[in-house]
Amino acid sequence: MNSQEIIKRSDRLFMKTYGRYETVMVQGHGCNLIDADGKEYLDFLAGIAVCVLGHCHPKVTQAICQQADKLVHVSNLYHTEPQTRLAEILINHSFADRIFFCNSGAEANEAAIKLARKFSDEGRYEIISLEGSFHGRTLATVAATGQPKFHQGFEPLPAGFRHAPFGDLGALERLITEQTCAILCEPLQGEGGVRPLSVEYLAGIRSLCDRHGLLLIFDEVQVGLGRTGTLFAYEQLGVTPDIITLAKALANGLPMGAMLATERVATAFEPGSHASTFGGNPVAAAAALVVMEELLSPGFLADVVTKGTYFQKQLENLVRDFPGIASKARGLGLIQGLVLTPEYAPKGGAMVNQLFKMGYLINFAGNVALRFLPPLIVTTAEIDRLIDALRKVFTEMSS
Ligand SMILES: *Cc1c(COP(=O)(O)O)cnc(C)c1O
Repeated sequence: MNSQEIIKRSDRLFMKTYGRYETVMVQGHGCNLIDADGKEYLDFLAGIAVCVLGHCHPKVTQAICQQADKLVHVSNLYHTEPQTRLAEILINHSFADRIFFCNSGAEANEAAIKLARKFSDEGRYEIISLEGSFHGRTLATVAATGQPKFHQGFEPLPAGFRHAPFGDLGALERLITEQTCAILCEPLQGEGGVRPLSVEYLAGIRSLCDRHGLLLIFDEVQVGLGRTGTLFAYEQLGVTPDIITLAKALANGLPMGAMLATERVATAFEPGSHASTFGGNPVAAAAALVVMEELLSPGFLADVVTKGTYFQKQLENLVRDFPGIASKARGLGLIQGLVLTPEYAPKGGAMVNQLFKMGYLINFAGNVALRFLPPLIVTTAEIDRLIDALRKVFTEMSS
């Protein structure tokens, strides 16, 4: 099949859940992708914050092949070494004492929601999340997601989810009732437009949780695992949650998620409380072990910070040179966003398409910001190439 045939057949086969680009990707290496027509792309999305070590990292590929040759799946009725080793590393490097493995971000958040409810006293089941948040596409996680466009047509959604206006601690406190059991938030909203929560706001949320006896759940599905320059985003924000969820980057592209919690909270789960057939699969765990080894290797995370600072500086230069188009650069480490002015925000999608044509992959988040999520192994030379491409697009658009 050539690419036109694949695209034509796909259009007739798949449910229309995705608006896809007219391309068939066939190969990846580092920060580069190649499509079926031989066109090369510089990938500043990394499969949406997934391929942190770049595409087809040789050590990940080797670990997958070796594990696949030994044992692919046995379910969670039995122990396997890769998942135990992975659990140990994640727990040793976080606040958490216990872990549950699953296969995606939504599942990790589902597990967190269930644990928070199970842990809390009877009658306390409500979870407050923030407007602009994104927590997944299952019914409960979509109910937790604070963006009405994801709810439409799926009502009635599971009960027990409330959304607080972003950045307003007073409004958040007014939503707390006798039924509330937890506050769920991303330390930095990804889908919502690369919108960081300030250190003061996060500290305020933590103290609300402490005063009202609520659990604090951090959804680090997108920003966890090195993306922000620390292994977990919470480490640099001065606030420790009770539960954290991870997924995207965990196995560099194999499906894997995790939910971690303190001992005190984790005891609420008993045998039979929760389960996953595939969760902690040995092949995914073998890939994740390589991811963890690389992220924790000397200098890796410091390098993410250096490159993130450099990237943000270059984006700020674009704001300076094109004040009519971009108003602000924001982000942490290698999740960066370029906020467009109200005049140009409606053209965000067109900018992304133009860059795609030029061979650069980025996306447009929350209808406000161009979003950049390169593999963490990106080089400053690659950052420069992307910045040059953005400069070209902005120059064309403003002339
Ligand atoms: C992507 C994402 C999810 C959902 O993850 P899936 O693996 O697509 O289910 C949840 N929360 C955040 C913050 C995300 O970025």
